[in-house]
Amino acid sequence: MSNESLFERAQKVIPGGVNSPVRAFRAVGGTPRFISRAHGPYIFDAEGKRYVDYIGSWGPMILGHGHPAVLEAVQKAAVDGFSFGAPTEREIELAEEILKLVPSMDMVRLVSSGTEAAMSALRLARGATGRNKIVKFEGCYHGHADSLLVKAGSGLATFGNPTSAGVPAEVVQHTLVLEYNNLDQLEEAFKLHAKDTACVVIEPIAGNMNFVRAALPFMKRLRELCTQHGSLLVFDEVMTGFRVGLRSAQGLYAKDLPGFEPDMSVFGKVIGGGMPLAAFGAKRAVMEKLAPLGPVYQAGTLSGNPVATACGLATLREIQKPGFFEALSERTRSLVSGLLGAAKEAGVPMVGDSEGGMFGFFFADTLAQNYGQVMATDKERFNRFFHGMLDAGVYFAPALYEAGFVSSAHTADDIAATVESARNVLR
Ligand SMILES: *Cc1c(COP(=O)(O)O)cnc(C)c1O
Repeated sequence: MSNESLFERAQKVIPGGVNSPVRAFRAVGGTPRFISRAHGPYIFDAEGKRYVDYIGSWGPMILGHGHPAVLEAVQKAAVDGFSFGAPTEREIELAEEILKLVPSMDMVRLVSSGTEAAMSALRLARGATGRNKIVKFEGCYHGHADSLLVKAGSGLATFGNPTSAGVPAEVVQHTLVLEYNNLDQLEEAFKLHAKDTACVVIEPIAGNMNFVRAALPFMKRLRELCTQHGSLLVFDEVMTGFRVGLRSAQGLYAKDLPGFEPDMSVFGKVIGGGMPLAAFGAKRAVMEKLAPLGPVYQAGTLSGNPVATACGLATLREIQKPGFFEALSERTRSLVSGLLGAAKEAGVPMVGDSEGGMFGFFFADTLAQNYGQVMATDKERFNRFFHGMLDAGVYFAPALYEAGFVSSAHTADDIAATVESARNVLR
């Protein structure tokens, strides 16, 4: 069985052959690898070829694949039942575990995907503030809810235009799109729209435009403006949550800005450990606006699924073990510095950054600060590098605007082998 033949077969029955577009390799060209199994830091394709996996299902697999403690928890939960449509103790345990690590929230609601969590969080923000407008940033992804598939309009006084067919202009007319890290636009947007703005949603470290940090002064001012005008600051930590550190990205900002907290947070990916699970949460007064307590409706047949919660809970327990994030951060840093070293030897301009087990690299002279700068980096070189590494058995994300992920299962030898491959490919 070949990847090629599976891709042909898939394209007959699934649009583009994939169930999520980036998997189709459109950005880099070529044939997607069909994965048959995974173990630790490795994934194996249908042809039996092994790859060092730096995608980790786009973030969730922070312990690598098939971690024994997680596997045991999932197997045990599956025996007890797949789904009940009734509450379980494990949902309380997972909620308690998340809240213990995220002091900005008093309550969480569990759902099944990041899209669902972000969409519900925005509905709640609107319901809680009684305002309609939402502000987002170009290059940040918050799932594919209609009102978020939007690009900037012609100016800050005009709202967005849909980026997808099937989204009526009326649906995005309340969404304002600003440039990431642009303080002037932020000030201007609040000057024009503060009293109508329900919330500002942001990826605090943007991982859907490679790896771009929100600068400290930008985040500080964003917090001040939201507080001053009664708009909720929503941290989309679906990617960064329990991935960049045990306290997530908000914990990192709180280190530099004492007392810093978002008003609402959205999680996914790591909290499910590879199973469909996500969550959104806030202070009690906001969360009590949610049904059945309040007027904001939200529901889900499979929400808080018993197998998914077992998987998430086991994952969250592992990452709290002493030294976990120190070791993961160190390993991730060694990967990035190894790649940059290889590029330097080859005379190739490359920059990179990482936090916890999340990283990014660009073929450019300086780190990008916003989406425009990310997309201006050397795409041809990225694509050649991607395919060279893939041939060498290293699986990076198949697009220059995606972040990368290291797991605790990646050994120093895996990193060294990856860097050696990069040396050969970049030469
Ligand atoms: C992945 C992601 C989402 C969407 O999550 P899904 O589970 O794919 O629906 C939302 N926000 C961010 C920041 C993400 O990285």
